[in-house]
Amino acid sequence: MIERKGIDSQTLLKRLRDALAEAGEGQERLDRITYLIALSLEAEVCSIYLKRDETTLELCATHGLKAEAVHQTKLRVGQGLVGRIADKAIPINKADAPSARGFRYMPETGEEVYSSFVGVPIQRLGEVLGVLVVQSKEPRQYSDDEVYGLEVVAMVIAEMTELGAFTGPDKMSIAAQHQLPFFVRGLRGQEGVAEGVVLLHEPHIVIANPVADDPLVETGRLQEALDMLVAEIDELLEKGATTGEHHDVMVAYRLFAQDKGWRERMFDSIESGLAAEVAVEKEQTSTRTRMARVADAYIRERLHDLDDLANRLLRILTGAQDAEERGIPENAILVARSIGPGELLDYGSKLKGVVLEEGSVGSHATIVARSLAIPLVIHAGRITREALSNDPILVDGESGTVHLRPDDTVATAFREKIAMQAEAQEAYKGLRDKRATTRDGVNIALHMNGGLMVDLPSLKPSGAEGVGLYRTELQFLIRTRVPRRSDLVNLYSKVMDAAGDKPVVFRTLDIGSDKALPYMKRPEEPNPALGWRAIRIGLDRPGVMRMQLQALIRAADGRPLNVMFPFIAQFEEFREARKKLLDELENEAQQGHVLPSEVRIGAMLETPSLAFAPDQFFELSDFISIGGNDLKQFFFAADRENELVRSRYDTLNVSFLTFIEQIADRCLRLNTPLSFCGEDAGRPIEALAFAAMGLRMLSMRPASVGPVKRLLREVDLGEIKEVIDEARGSGEQSVRPALHAWLKAREYPV
Ligand code: PEP
Ligand code: MG
Repeated sequence: MIERKGIDSQTLLKRLRDALAEAGEGQERLDRITYLIALSLEAEVCSIYLKRDETTLELCATHGLKAEAVHQTKLRVGQGLVGRIADKAIPINKADAPSARGFRYMPETGEEVYSSFVGVPIQRLGEVLGVLVVQSKEPRQYSDDEVYGLEVVAMVIAEMTELGAFTGPDKMSIAAQHQLPFFVRGLRGQEGVAEGVVLLHEPHIVIANPVADDPLVETGRLQEALDMLVAEIDELLEKGATTGEHHDVMVAYRLFAQDKGWRERMFDSIESGLAAEVAVEKEQTSTRTRMARVADAYIRERLHDLDDLANRLLRILTGAQDAEERGIPENAILVARSIGPGELLDYGSKLKGVVLEEGSVGSHATIVARSLAIPLVIHAGRITREALSNDPILVDGESGTVHLRPDDTVATAFREKIAMQAEAQEAYKGLRDKRATTRDGVNIALHMNGGLMVDLPSLKPSGAEGVGLYRTELQFLIRTRVPRRSDLVNLYSKVMDAAGDKPVVFRTLDIGSDKALPYMKRPEEPNPALGWRAIRIGLDRPGVMRMQLQALIRAADGRPLNVMFPFIAQFEEFREARKKLLDELENEAQQGHVLPSEVRIGAMLETPSLAFAPDQFFELSDFISIGGNDLKQFFFAADRENELVRSRYDTLNVSFLTFIEQIADRCLRLNTPLSFCGEDAGRPIEALAFAAMGLRMLSMRPASVGPVKRLLREVDLGEIKEVIDEARGSGEQSVRPALHAWLKAREYPV
């Protein structure tokens, strides 16, 4: 093998820039680029493949392969070496490519004579736009420096693509059109519909000159921007402008901003010939590629912080304004790749809806969007690339669909849907102070679920009789470190103040599984949903739970206190947890704290095992609440977070409903108050079926109280029970079709 000198990327980049400055069509420019790169690397072939859509790559320019193959040769992402580079966003470097695994020979290109192959992804901000390939006849292994040099070149090609440098009459453009309507089907994050205009969380940054004219100048610019970044963070911290949750994030950011490795990588890229902004983007691209690969929630959170820091740096370098400076337009619908719960809380009630390119059903941002009661669509592919600030946008959280720049017919149909929902909301307001009493006189207590401060104002307008589930872990999830006991006392007492004489059931920390605390290192678990979570952590490492129990007792300050332990799978766990609370009450009394006027201690029934616990468990529990989200996943062995199986088993499945009925019967016999607090309690037909099975208390999202109450007040539970029994007797898998048809036929509001 022959040793070659490394690629002189500074000179090459300047030549590329000059080539692009010349007038000409996009195709001519691309051709010239491939020629210059081949020349610089002393290689026979250089080719550029660009993505035409999500799955197809097209040979768009080549120096060395057969010219007839240009725009004819297409391959799928994942196929062959080129496809693999696009798929995995990694470089591939082979001295003997034809014998490499996955090599796919394309005869029309004449590439069979070329032995060595090096290819790198052309990517911008974590999105692969294409692949840059260099090939030679001799079996030559390119050095790491040469691969790095090619990555730098690919970065410039990506920037030029974004600028539309390759647009021409021959459909060369791969940049988004940003004009045509764009429709995307994502996943439901939170129900509701909204019409508004796009507010980009991260505005598009356009870099006019991606190549450094003078690396010294660029190095100075980056250094200055880094100093400004640190000063900006310091100023925020000093002014005390950030409180609680945000303060911690800023302290972490300051540490990251000083990170030597992060800084050096960016300065190295400038040394190779990139402008300061592109050097930051190159680093950001590799952060995002890593982010897409790691499953560990803790590492992902850290990478997310780094990504955010790069955004701030870019804003300083380009003088772009952040969302706050740009001002939040009326009817703003936030569009982001992903967003942290703290940032989303900052936008707060000014938003009409949220669309995320990533996100998950159980993510913290999703939890916040639920609290804000605004529609949320997640997994909306390409939305951040397609949307421009102030574009008109329609969001339907229920179907998980988004219409960007919709045409008139779509917008009109959508407005009708919004009007219908508004009408229904008005009707619910009239029911606010009425009870959910069925026509045959059965009272169903409707409570709300909460967990953030923003939830509390909903208690009154929703008409809920109390807070049936207060998820205390949400306050832990939105922070960057464990809250102090005094913070918790403060918080819990505010919750009780806001609830007045309405009861609040505080659930102790339910972490683990889908709820990962960013600051708590967790063991690798093969199956986290069945793993070390909730009360299991609380009992094995009682420190945090003890602190929480003390805070609850102090916050109650002589008022009644309701505490519920999550994920109890056997009697012993409940006995132990209950004893911990009783011990704390004793300690607190000894220290002279006022004790609550009454303490009720309950358990969540979330695993089938607990339904079969000894009678003594039911007798010892002051109340039980069915956590249907978890109970259902374990009953059917179907992961609540896995889209492939999540909706496969209906809640109104005869087996599940009969199981709920058995739990209700047992609680009735043993005199244990029972409620249901999973998401299904907030769906009117499900709520009706649970009531017919014997449930007398349901806890749900505040927005669901109205619709559930309206239906309950109109029906005769005895009749509903008959419909369900008949469907069960007929061998149906689910009682839903029968129940739905019966209600529809009688024009009930379903
Ligand atoms: C449940 O599992 O139904 C529940 C209410 O708890 P979470 O959704 O917080 O796990
Ligand atoms: Mg649960």
